[in-house]
Order: sequence, then structure tokens, then C-alpha cells
Amino acid sequence: MRPGTLARLPGPPELTVDPDCAICHLPPNANCGCEANAMVAAVKEAESRVMKPEYRKVREWARHRAQDYVLQYFGLLSERRKQDYRARVAELTDNARRYYGALPHPSDMRAAHEQLRRGINEDWKASVTRYPEVLDYFFSLVKVRYPSDSDPRVRDPPLSAMNGIVRRSGR
Ligand SMILES: [Zn+2]
Repeated sequence: MRPGTLARLPGPPELTVDPDCAICHLPPNANCGCEANAMVAAVKEAESRVMKPEYRKVREWARHRAQDYVLQYFGLLSERRKQDYRARVAELTDNARRYYGALPHPSDMRAAHEQLRRGINEDWKASVTRYPEVLDYFFSLVKVRYPSDSDPRVRDPPLSAMNGIVRRSGR
């Protein structure tokens, strides 16, 4: 026997058995699609069970931070308006006392107050319209972390059916 002959001898036929569909039991070449559909449904359900509460937490977190930020921003703007208002009232009071020896005219005071009110409304609108930008920012701070494929929790999940199979096989 020449060297190498043994290697060329035909081995046993490849043992491949494709299982029937686990759901409708049609043979694998029937392409029934049951398993693919069941897989899609299972992913959706697991996502809803595991991830939805996380989505909710992220949404609440971003919402609270954005709300705090917008209120703080509005506080800053409106404080500036109030300072302007106080300065205007002091000016009106000084002038009235100096030139007329009286209190400022009520219509001047009303006008100053009306200006404050308009300013505060503008500030509120300017603050609230920043929500999209501010929410984008806070949502972008939340990062999803994936474990690496070599992580033991990924390679050998502590799930009952396969528990320790990878560990025992020494792979
Ligand atoms: Zn099927």
C-alpha cells in the first residue's frame, strides 16, 4: 500500500440530520417559516420583559435632568428681568421724588410691570423651547454596555440546560 492511500479512502457518510419544524413538524425543506416567526416573537417578548423597565428608567432620568436644567435656565433669565425691573422702579422713584417730590406715576409703574411680565413670558418660552436640545444631551449621556464575547458570563451562561458544558469541555 502506497503511503497516503489510507487518507484517500472514503470515510463514513457525513451524518447530518436536519430536524423537522419544531412547531408544525413539516420537514426542513418545507420552509414553513414557523421557527423564524417564533424567534422574532420571542425576541420581542424578551425585549419587552427585560429592556422596557430599563427604557423607562432612562426616560425618567433624562426627563428629570432636562426639567431641572430648563427650570434653572429660566430662573437665570427671569432673575435678570427682575433685576432690570427693580432698577427701572428705583429710577422712576428717584426721578419722581427729585422732580415732583412725589411717588412715581401709577401708569409708569404699570408700564414697568407690564414690561417685566412680557419679559418673563419671553424667558419662559425661550426656556421651554430648549427641551429637544436638552433632552438630546441628557439621553446621549446614557450608554449601553455590552460584555465582551470572551466574558465568562457570555461564553458559559449560568442557564440550567447548558450549565458548565463549556467549562467541562475545556474550551
Ligand atoms: Zn413549521
